[in-house]
Amino acid sequence: MIYKRSSALFKEAQQVIPGGVNSPVRAFKSVGGEPVFVKRAKGAYITDVDGNTLIDFIASWGPLILGHAYEPVIDAVCAKAQDGTSFGMPTEIETEIARLAISMVPGIEKIRFVNSGTEACMSAIRLARGYTGREKIIKFAGCYHGHSDSFLIAAGSGAVTLGVPNSPGVTTGTARDTLLAAYNNLNAVEELISQHPNEIACIILEPAAGNMGCIPPAEGFLEGLRSLCDKNGIVLIFDEVMTGFRLAAGGAQELFNVKADIVTFGKVIGGGLPVGAFAANNEIMNHLAPDGPVYQAGTLSGNPLAMAAGLAMLEELNDNPDVYESLKEKTAYLHQGLESVLSNSEIPYTINRLGSMISLHFTSEAVVDFESSAKGNNDTFKKFFHGMLKEGIYLPPSAFESWFLNDALNYEDLDKCVEACRKVVSTL
Ligand SMILES: *Cc1c(COP(=O)(O)O)cnc(C)c1O
Repeated sequence: MIYKRSSALFKEAQQVIPGGVNSPVRAFKSVGGEPVFVKRAKGAYITDVDGNTLIDFIASWGPLILGHAYEPVIDAVCAKAQDGTSFGMPTEIETEIARLAISMVPGIEKIRFVNSGTEACMSAIRLARGYTGREKIIKFAGCYHGHSDSFLIAAGSGAVTLGVPNSPGVTTGTARDTLLAAYNNLNAVEELISQHPNEIACIILEPAAGNMGCIPPAEGFLEGLRSLCDKNGIVLIFDEVMTGFRLAAGGAQELFNVKADIVTFGKVIGGGLPVGAFAANNEIMNHLAPDGPVYQAGTLSGNPLAMAAGLAMLEELNDNPDVYESLKEKTAYLHQGLESVLSNSEIPYTINRLGSMISLHFTSEAVVDFESSAKGNNDTFKKFFHGMLKEGIYLPPSAFESWFLNDALNYEDLDKCVEACRKVVSTL
């Protein structure tokens, strides 16, 4: 495949946009090479600016669970745009999507819409702090909750450590309030809680991790967190930006039958437009402005085009719950195919899968947290990624990201992916 036009556009973009991209992972830094510029996409296929067609296994990092340019979503947005794009005044569709989201997700009574997953998580911890009157939060190494200061904290080498900022610009003061534990490690959390009695406002986590590969919660992990939170007056926040409306209509809460106190959303809930949201029961949500003192706002929050896209998407998922079974079967089929190729090779590997999320790690050790995920051989991943790209398979350009299947993928596409894998693995 030729990437002449992409390469030229990337050079131009770098003149005026830092790194040529508006979100770092797009720049291919961790796999090397240059990013592909998209012209258009439909269903499971991306057409790039050089005319290449790629089978897409990212779906815009999750939102497009039914495929690109999904007609009911596109129609809803186009129709809505005719009436104006933003008012800074309430509109009826905000209540409609709120009502539908609340009916689909367990345990929530009110929902506030924002513009991104970052905003949703940032607001959720402010709400938890305002609600509890406490300042510290617990997060897990390798979980991603957007780019707000409190979350850009890396773990030290130990499982339990005080946070240090991992981006310049995050103050040590902020980092001090973020405590870290290893994913799937209840003891680490218990220890943090006993070291900081009555100081911890909330525990925030991806109930199934998707930002260090796909890492499902260990048996009893979510239940254990739930009971630790109950015992210690801590708010449990499920960051379902990735898993919400993807693992099930009710997200990870439904799949694992564990309830969080606050849930955050993004990605699928916007149907491909910029939407985030956070939700809880009335008692917690009533602390939010204008009903309560915890401030949160947004000029474009609840934007009618974004709400139209989100509503159309949620309606489709609500009306066709079979889609989750279909996605799960497709992902299991892909898993089997990849497994059959890799198990006949000498390459150490681990495949993790949950619902429509799957990740391939070049390590033979079980991948259960950030530390084990980081053991994957990144040189092998780079070669694998570029080999697959050459075969027309678009995977996330980082070993730390899950693949996201969309329901427009058919079994022929999955066979092509497995065949490409067979070809590439023979060259590794
Ligand atoms: C993508 C993501 C975010 C951030 O959402 P943005 O819309 O990129 O700001 C937060 N949490 C999780 C789990 C995510 O996957």
